[in-house]
This record gives sequence, structure tokens and C-alpha cells, in this order.
Amino acid sequence: MQIVPYGGVNEVGGNTFLLETNGTKILLDFGRSFKQEGTYFAGFLSPRTSQGLKDFLEFKILPKIQGIYAQEFSIDDKSIKSRINACFLSHAHLDHFGNINVLNEDIPVYMGETAKTIVQSIQDTTRTRFGRPYIRQATDDKPSNVRTFRTGDVIQINEFNITPIHVDHSLPGSYGFIIEGEDDQNIGYTGDLRIHGWRKDLTQDFINIAKKKGINTLLIEGTNIDEDFDVNETRVQKDVSQAIETTNGLAIANYSLRDIDRFRSFYKAAKENGRKLLINMQQAHLLQLLQNDPHLETPPLNDPYIQIYKRPKTRYYQWEQKLIETLSMVESPAFNQSEYVFHCDFWNLTDLIDIQPSPNISTYFYSHGEPFNEEGMIDYNRMMEWIRHFHLEFKQYHASGHAPRSDLKQIVEEINPELLIPIHTEYPEKYQEIVDVPILLPKRGRKISI
Ligand SMILES: [Zn+2]
Ligand SMILES: [Zn+2]
Repeated sequence: MQIVPYGGVNEVGGNTFLLETNGTKILLDFGRSFKQEGTYFAGFLSPRTSQGLKDFLEFKILPKIQGIYAQEFSIDDKSIKSRINACFLSHAHLDHFGNINVLNEDIPVYMGETAKTIVQSIQDTTRTRFGRPYIRQATDDKPSNVRTFRTGDVIQINEFNITPIHVDHSLPGSYGFIIEGEDDQNIGYTGDLRIHGWRKDLTQDFINIAKKKGINTLLIEGTNIDEDFDVNETRVQKDVSQAIETTNGLAIANYSLRDIDRFRSFYKAAKENGRKLLINMQQAHLLQLLQNDPHLETPPLNDPYIQIYKRPKTRYYQWEQKLIETLSMVESPAFNQSEYVFHCDFWNLTDLIDIQPSPNISTYFYSHGEPFNEEGMIDYNRMMEWIRHFHLEFKQYHASGHAPRSDLKQIVEEINPELLIPIHTEYPEKYQEIVDVPILLPKRGRKISI
């Protein structure tokens, strides 16, 4: 069996791994590499989409693999039928699925039910690259490109048997995979995971099943391989709740829109303080779709402690219009600030101009980790200027979506693979310091035979 890492090597994200056995090929994730893209492009210097994939292939932002791209992108020899049999997505973060819209339409893309809902919401509420959808609707003569799975399903793709098992991460609907190939070679692929979230039992299921099946080669993420911490989601919720209690003005929350655990933490913290969580329409759109998911039990949009903010605009998108017509919304500045926790991420900071948070008594809750690249640092500094301008108190509460060093060690020791391939980390070599398992440091585009 062979593995070719096309992304997710020496970087956090961009996961793209090609597995091949006896001519059968599957892709594990097909994510956007923000590192590779950011090395060559930024701001107005962006890859041209008018030139097909040219700019992306030049810098290996997309891999040069024949037969995987849609017909309209000319790198393909038209006579070659799709040479990849399937693509499997671990979860709905862009660095894991963001390139699936350029895949050849004949390649089925497998993802979890909840992941599909999240991808659908992203597709409905944001602009997609090349204007191509991630999920194509089925037509009379063609099925949809997307197939869904639930944890424990076994999906057979010729010689491969792929078992998705749920894991805990900062996004619901996250999975790891156990891939059984020929010669009893079992590969484990963790996707992104942690065991300090509210659903560590999910990750434990993955570990247990991996242990039971026996893993020869484990591809494991290592985002936090260089750090240890003991902040978990419960702690975040408690700390936020306490800090809201001492806030007299508006509590402003900057947390990831699709991190449902963090949304829940802020929702609970708001409720404990008799405040309402004021979310934006994008989050309302997602929550509305997730209502149909019986496993998540997200609070309904008519919950007395949830309200939706209607940003002043001259024209609303169709999806926004639909929400406006069906749900009651709060308009600026017609609300009593001390009764709300207002969700406001970096891209919506202009909302503060309309809302004018009461100076010196309002707090800005920053619920992310430290910026990890230059661009992130610039954005962070810009955000701090806004906080100073509006005289807000700054507080940071965060628990990572990724396992820290000591938990990664524990996961590897429990699964006990014969070979470890560290992925999704800037420091793959640091695994050598913590585990006593043979380690192969992958190189972008270089084939690994196992
Ligand atoms: Zn990731
Ligand atoms: Zn992720």
C-alpha cells in the first residue's frame, strides 16, 4: 500500500493524503492549505480563478494529480476517466474539505451527516471559490457527489474497507478513519481530535476501535505537540460565566461561528447570568439546519436566551431574507446592553460602530488561541486597536480544539501502532521526544510505501 501526502505536512491544515492499493485510490481529506497559499499570496495579490487552476498548481497550492479535477479545469487529459475512486472527509473545517468543489464530479465524496449540514451552511452563506458548490444536488441523470456515513459504518471501495469513527474536536461531526487494505495493513487516520472537550467519549471510541482492530500505521495530528495545558471546555464556560457576572455593560464574544461547543459555553454562561446570547444570521442559519440533527441537541432558535441580530444593510442576501421573514430579530441599537452577550467576530467588528458598546463597563471576550502566523498577528493587533478605541475590557478564554502534548502521547500509547506518521503540525519531529514508536517524518509529495 502507498501513501502520498500532498498537504498536511509541516503545516497545521491543508490535509490531503492519497492512499493507493492495487490501483484503487482514495483521498483522505482535500483541504485548503492556508500556509502554502499565504506564502505566495495575500490581500489583493490573490490566485486568479479566471485562469483555472494554473496559479494554484504553480505553487502546489493544489496537487498536480491527473484525473482528479473537474472537466472544466484543463490539466486533465480528457481521455482519462477519474482515477480516484473516492474522497473521505474527516470534518467540515476548510483546511480539510475546502478543495472538494474542484474535484471531478464523478468522484464520490464521503462525509458525516453533520459535516454535510455544516458544509451546506457554508455553501449557502459564503462565496465559494470558482463559484462551484461543494455539494451538488442530484439530477435525473447524476447522483449527488456527496454520500454520508455514520460512525461505525464500513464503506468498501474495492480493496479498501474504511470505517469512520467519531472523535471530539471543536466542530461537531468530526471523524477519524480506520482503513483496512490488502495484506492486513491497517491504517489509522485521526483527523483533528482532542480528549478535553465535552465529548471526550467520542475520541475514546476511536481509540478503542483502533486498538481492537490493530493499527499498523497511524497518521496522527500534532497541532499542539509542543505544548501542554489543562484548560478544558467546562473551565471556559465557568470562567466566562464568572467574568460576565462582573460586566455591567455589554459582553461581546468573539468565538468561532461553527464551534458548537463554544457556542454552548457562551449560551450557558449568558443564561446563568440572565442574559440573552445575541447571535448573527450566519450562526442562526447553521443552528437552524442543525436542529434536524438529533445527536446534537442544540438549543432552538426560539429559545428565550437566544436572539438574532439584524445587521443594518441596504440589501440582504436571499438566505438572510428568508431568516428575516421567519424569525424575530433584534435591531441595533434598540437593546439594553446589560441584558446581552453579543457574538461579534473579527470580520464583524464594524457592528460595534452601530451598537456603540457602553465605554469602560463593556467587556470583549476573545475566545481563540494565540495567532499562529504573521497575518493572524496583524489581524490580532488590528482587533486590539478596536478594543482600545471603544474602551473595552479585554479578556481571553479558550480551550483548544486539539489535544495537547500529554494527551497525544496517551493516544499513541493506547493505540500502539507499529509506525507513526505525524501530520497537521509544524513540528512533526517533536513526536520523537514523547513516544517510543518508530516515526516516519513525511515529505510533501513523496510516496511512502508500507
Ligand atoms: Zn485541521
Ligand atoms: Zn479541524
